[in-house]
Amino acid sequence: MSLLLEHECLRLTQHSDHVELMLADLTVDEFRRIRASYVIAADGGSSSLRAQLGVGFSGKTYAERWIVIDTKVLAEWPGHDRLRFHCNPERPTVDCPTPLGHHRWEFPVRDDEDERDLLNEEAIWKVLRGQGISDTNVKIVGFACYSHHVRFADRWRVDRVFLAGDAAHAMPPWIGQGMCAGVRDVGNLCWKLAAVLRGTLGDSVLDTYQAERLPHVKDVTNRAVKTGKLIIQRSRWRAAARNHVFRTASRVPYFLTWLRDHRWLPDARYRDGFVAKSGNGAEGWLIPQPWVLDEKGDTVRLDDILGGRWTILHVGPPSDFGQWRSAGVSTLRVTRPGTAPGPDGLVDLDGSLIRWLNKKGATAVAVRPDGFVYAGTNGRAPGGQSLTPPPAGFTMQRTTR
Ligand SMILES: Cc1cc2nc3c(=O)[nH]c(=O)nc-3n(C[C@H](O)[C@H](O)[C@H](O)COP(=O)(O)OP(=O)(O)OC[C@H]3O[C@@H](n4cnc5c(N)ncnc54)[C@H](O)[C@@H]3O)c2cc1C
Repeated sequence: MSLLLEHECLRLTQHSDHVELMLADLTVDEFRRIRASYVIAADGGSSSLRAQLGVGFSGKTYAERWIVIDTKVLAEWPGHDRLRFHCNPERPTVDCPTPLGHHRWEFPVRDDEDERDLLNEEAIWKVLRGQGISDTNVKIVGFACYSHHVRFADRWRVDRVFLAGDAAHAMPPWIGQGMCAGVRDVGNLCWKLAAVLRGTLGDSVLDTYQAERLPHVKDVTNRAVKTGKLIIQRSRWRAAARNHVFRTASRVPYFLTWLRDHRWLPDARYRDGFVAKSGNGAEGWLIPQPWVLDEKGDTVRLDDILGGRWTILHVGPPSDFGQWRSAGVSTLRVTRPGTAPGPDGLVDLDGSLIRWLNKKGATAVAVRPDGFVYAGTNGRAPGGQSLTPPPAGFTMQRTTR
């Protein structure tokens, strides 16, 4: 495998069994052609590859312009480590700690302002001083003006090319989910591509990429838009009503936990796509990520044990998962807190995984490499303990291509 940094993709040409890419090596001003079985075009919101493929980017771009300021922190101030929305109708501002000792502010350009007058250090300092920040607190690293978009690519797959990240969707940044959505896209796509290239699944599984990801991206985008409306409310009386509701709700401890634990973010559930569709309540959901004891007795996250492989998780005695076992899928028994770890098993340290399975009505689940449940048993239905078999032709064995 090789990583080509500072190369620009100028053109791609699709063939029946491969894609040819024309790249410019920007370090030496040379061109090269490479071949790929499949291509993930993650080239951002202005994706030139999306344009080359003739795929539309439907939706809207908001007229309001935003100034974003990136700073390096020199001396910390109270609350510097918290993400805060200053919901002042006169000057709503996002105030956000960012990695590597940086801090970011964002605010909209008002109707009576010209963005060109705001894009200079003097104007930026005026806004920062309004937030109680001086040049002893931060050094300005950069500032820019941008617009918010709500847009979705009309098709996410064109033959052997897949759009991902901002090339496939754009949302306002209110709930910090744009990059997260892109990471989920490639999380969904990469194990499927690996399976197709190994010959363990057919090419048609790649058609489930958009069907699975698009509904969740739309849910998250709607939530971002609604959250933004709350934060940047310009009407004084609506802002006063909002403040009253939030002050009152903040007295309820559950509300604060709900906010802090991001429970208001839409969970991902794939209703349509590569799932068994046998009606079990766990199907299509992302498996939770609790702390567990592995067979050596070490405390690890469930993901560390699953390791990006197909796995059957089951509670109770081992059942006959014959077809899954024949296909090479391993099984792990989940036991209650306080039990001893053993081979082919894990201990659910706080019992949350077992509670989750109970709630979904499953005694066993087949988990995909990306952590989503392909199939679950229906423990509540009489005699309905069996797990839907793997998809036709599925095998973990590598085939040579
Ligand atoms: C102010 C602001 C705050 C945000 N905050 C958050 C946040 O807190 N959390 C979050 O999850 N998201 C956040 N986002 C969204 C996040 O930044 C984007 O969703 C994310 O950067 C998209 O990643 P991407 O890789 O799809 O596209 P980009 O980040 O745009 O990367 C695309 C890359 O492709 C390269 N490229 C383009 N064309 C070519 C070509 N032809 N050949 C080769 N390379 C090419 C570009 O140079 C670029 O490096 C924020 C966005 C903004 C504007």
